[in-house]
Amino acid sequence: MYDAIIVGARVAGATTALLLAQRGHSVLLLDKDRFPSPVISTHVFFTDCLDVFEQIGILDEVLDVNAPRLTRMRFPYVEGDFPDVNGRNFALCIRRDVLDEIPLRACQRHLNIDVRTECRVHELEWHDDRVVGVRFSERGSSDDSLANARIVIGADSRHSTVAREVGADAYDEVPSLFAWYYGYFRGVPLDDPPSVFAARTSLPKVGAEYAASFVFPCDDDLTLVGFGVQRDCFDEFRKDYRANYFAGLETLPQVMERLGDTPLEGAIVGTGDLPNFLRVPAGPGWALVGDAGCHKDPHTIQGMGDAARSAVILAEELDAWWSGSKTEIEAARAYHQRRDDDLKPMYDFTTNRLQAHVDEDVWERFSELTWEDPDLAQVRVSAIAHAIDPASVYTPEAVQNIVAGAQASTRNQGVSGR
Ligand SMILES: Cc1cc2nc3c(=O)[nH]c(=O)nc-3n(C[C@H](O)[C@H](O)[C@H](O)COP(=O)(O)OP(=O)(O)OC[C@H]3O[C@@H](n4cnc5c(N)ncnc54)[C@H](O)[C@@H]3O)c2cc1C
Repeated sequence: MYDAIIVGARVAGATTALLLAQRGHSVLLLDKDRFPSPVISTHVFFTDCLDVFEQIGILDEVLDVNAPRLTRMRFPYVEGDFPDVNGRNFALCIRRDVLDEIPLRACQRHLNIDVRTECRVHELEWHDDRVVGVRFSERGSSDDSLANARIVIGADSRHSTVAREVGADAYDEVPSLFAWYYGYFRGVPLDDPPSVFAARTSLPKVGAEYAASFVFPCDDDLTLVGFGVQRDCFDEFRKDYRANYFAGLETLPQVMERLGDTPLEGAIVGTGDLPNFLRVPAGPGWALVGDAGCHKDPHTIQGMGDAARSAVILAEELDAWWSGSKTEIEAARAYHQRRDDDLKPMYDFTTNRLQAHVDEDVWERFSELTWEDPDLAQVRVSAIAHAIDPASVYTPEAVQNIVAGAQASTRNQGVSGR
């Protein structure tokens, strides 16, 4: 009998495990994968992740990885420096097989955590309407094992077994918006200052009016270079994805010049399976964290930070329940509310739900102002990195206020100038 069983041992799962273990709770951490191993995911993360890594005691190991510090964001819709948070003013890009191994090792070292990899959870154990455990099997074995806990936490990504078994309701759903492919090039020179870079283009060859490329310098002298197209062109793109990936990069001279004749190392991988949803994240004996509870297109680089911050909220609420300061229902409601308050502004921006709630001309003016006013650009970059509350700029009210404020100030300047 554990306090918590966590299904999935990457960013969301390992972070939650360490936060609970630090508070003296016992955890069984299960993952079907063998580690170290990659997942299909690019891997930029911001200072919000670094803060959580500090909290769980792995920051030094993460900073010791040989990855350049990326101090600027250069995106098609905003450009600015990453603000200083706790003495750190940079994003990092570390391949997932390297990064995910760090919290996992910390879990393996912790006496309160029992880590079992290559163990797939296929069913939940119920008592009346309450989840009380999991059934899992080790790779290569047909034997079924049962483990029990006060709570089962699904940190098992967008196709979560835990979410499916409990029937967690999804809401604010938006179908996949893009398909993204990426590969690694060795020895690409850094830009100055080193940046998280993306550029917009099109790829008529596959019918894509909207396409984009991104260049993220990462660990081991590698640079992650991605290319993606609007989702309805995915089938056409993937028929010959390698040729289309290079054809896409060729449309962007600034990317091709930077790559020069550096070699592609390894395969090009990608996916168009990128649904956008929030799920009710807690119920009797269960909770969801990370992509299992909220998945969104990665183009705004929110996934790992969201997973880490949600893990912090979940651990705090479980601790409140287990220390007796809240009931289970109060803790579950608080987790749901706090998680949504934290995730929703950037979720809505990522999925164009925010843009749909603002008049088109207001959104257009907001976009123009971002290029005219470096302070606004800075605020937007800070919000994307969660250095400030994204609700201060990524809600319909905030956008309207910013545009109205700019109009009023122009009018006032006109009056005082007369
Ligand atoms: C193309 C792409 C690019 C991305 N780029 C970025 C980026 O640059 N920056 C960023 O922050 N985010 C990015 N993301 C999002 C990011 O990958 C996720 O948000 C993040 O990995 C979520 O972490 P997680 O721990 O919830 O899930 P995952 O990292 O997916 O881990 C889930 C774990 O659960 C395990 N699991 C699943 N089912 C079971 C089961 N039944 N039993 C046992 N174990 C199970 C899996 O083996 C896996 O190890 C990208 C995603 C994609 C697809």
